[in-house]
Amino acid sequence: MVAQMRPWLVYGATQALCSECLHVVEAKEVLQDGKAWLLKRCRIHGPQRVLLADDVDYWRMAREVFQKVGEQVARPNTPYRFGCPYDCGICPEHEQHGCLTLL
Ligand SMILES: [Zn+2]
Repeated sequence: MVAQMRPWLVYGATQALCSECLHVVEAKEVLQDGKAWLLKRCRIHGPQRVLLADDVDYWRMAREVFQKVGEQVARPNTPYRFGCPYDCGICPEHEQHGCLTLL
């Protein structure tokens, strides 16, 4: 008997936001067909699949080599009430440094 194999390799586990209701949900980072994907499941809205990167080698290098200690902002813009990401605008618990400006 041959075991049925999943088509992806699990890279890690994390939390994410549901794309519909923005509740925090459990998520898996998986590698499949040369791409990195985020698989998440909301109790209300079901499974969701988000493309993280279309170049898995670059994505892995960014995750494993280009690591950087999180910076704290000098003056948080929103107070802590419910925790990041719900308070984030940027909140005192925010862990990620600024890396991209959106206009
Ligand atoms: Zn949802």
